[in-house]
Amino acid sequence: MAKHFVIIGAGQAGVQAVQSLRAGGFVGRLTLLGDEAYPPYQRPPLSKAYLLGTFARERLFLKGDEFYHEAGCELVLNTRATAIDRAARTIALSDGRTLSYDKLLIATGTRVRKLRCLGTDLPGIHYLRDIADVDGLQSEFKPGARMAVVGGGYIGLEVAAVGAKRGLQVTVFESAARLMPRTVSKPVSDFYAQEHLKAGVTLELNTLVAGFEGKDRVEAVRAGGVSHPADLVLVGIGVVPNDELAAAAGLTCSDGIVVDRNAMTSDPAIFAAGDCTRHHGRDGVEIRLECVQNAIDQAKHAALAMMDRPKDYGEVPWFWSDQYDLKLQIAGLARPGDSIVVRGDPALRKFAVFHLRAGRVAAVEAVNAAPEYLIGKKLIAADAEIPPEKLVDTSLAMKAFA
Ligand code: FAD
Repeated sequence: MAKHFVIIGAGQAGVQAVQSLRAGGFVGRLTLLGDEAYPPYQRPPLSKAYLLGTFARERLFLKGDEFYHEAGCELVLNTRATAIDRAARTIALSDGRTLSYDKLLIATGTRVRKLRCLGTDLPGIHYLRDIADVDGLQSEFKPGARMAVVGGGYIGLEVAAVGAKRGLQVTVFESAARLMPRTVSKPVSDFYAQEHLKAGVTLELNTLVAGFEGKDRVEAVRAGGVSHPADLVLVGIGVVPNDELAAAAGLTCSDGIVVDRNAMTSDPAIFAAGDCTRHHGRDGVEIRLECVQNAIDQAKHAALAMMDRPKDYGEVPWFWSDQYDLKLQIAGLARPGDSIVVRGDPALRKFAVFHLRAGRVAAVEAVNAAPEYLIGKKLIAADAEIPPEKLVDTSLAMKAFA
């Protein structure tokens, strides 16, 4: 009888797995199950061009209806997987049905981390993860409105940049001493702080939000012992992995579903890919990545392993962020203890920070600097050793290092 592969989570990783399974020759039955109302869509534009209003909704969808039809994939939407019975190899669904599987891929992604403090339930406090969140935000996203952004990470800063562009009065509250503290180096943080200030955004660094005030809806943010008036609030303080389904089924989880280099979980019939997973990165350190690259690449490796053709996953992670007219592109993973060198001049709004570990290029953060990013990524993949004085010498074109 034809094998049945089921994918739980109709997102970036889920749809990639469908594509890779069919491209790889899997001819059995295929079901993609999602709890949202929409077919798989890309989330990055949600906090960027889609929020700005320059990116049509139809463009969000990763594939058209004909893709699922041609792939012979049953796309089941608005339906949640509620339990996995590993012994019986079945999945219980929110609509009361039960699906049996031969192999299962869990690609359930993440959900927003909620702020726990006074007043968090007041209307006017928003989070951003899905299309409905942006739709809810849009009606309050009006020129002149005072928007408080809680969290100076990627999402918060992208929304702040769109808000400033659309004429809102934006204040960003960040508990750390600098912006994007977990993900970029200090020179990049400092550069972005200047850009946001230039755009009229107020930055409240070293400031912990203690709560929200308001009668019928949010009217102020309480932070640093002061009430900051606000008409709306966007909270962007990170995400948590949707690993409860896997954990309840007895799969090994630790802030994410633990998978090996072939995206296999602790059950050889069950695989996991994307934001919901934790794996050993290229440098052997355990990591949970929240980016499109990992969703796509890990899903490709999961598909191979599901077809019994496992191939080790060791791609260089990459990420991007759009704020104003600035393109930040990051490849590799920086670690504490790396030495950094800056190539180019931040004042010219075009520069790159290279992270060196034991003399080798380990990561690059490039601002409006595509060659530094593209060739930097290759240098990281090759574990290349480039003398720092050469890396910073802009009279040497990046392709000289390739
Ligand atoms: P998702 O795409 O989140 O898909 C998981 C799906 O599974 C969801 O639809 C979820 O509802 C569903 N699901 C969960 N549990 C169940 C269940 N029990 N049953 C059925 N369905 C279930 N990354 C970048 O690389 N660059 C960026 O610039 C960038 N910007 C971003 C901006 C925003 C606003 C957001 C929210 C994310 C951004 N990301 C960005 C991150 C990127 O979108 C994610 O890394 C990517 O979507 C992960 O794909 P995934 O398939 O693992 O999860």
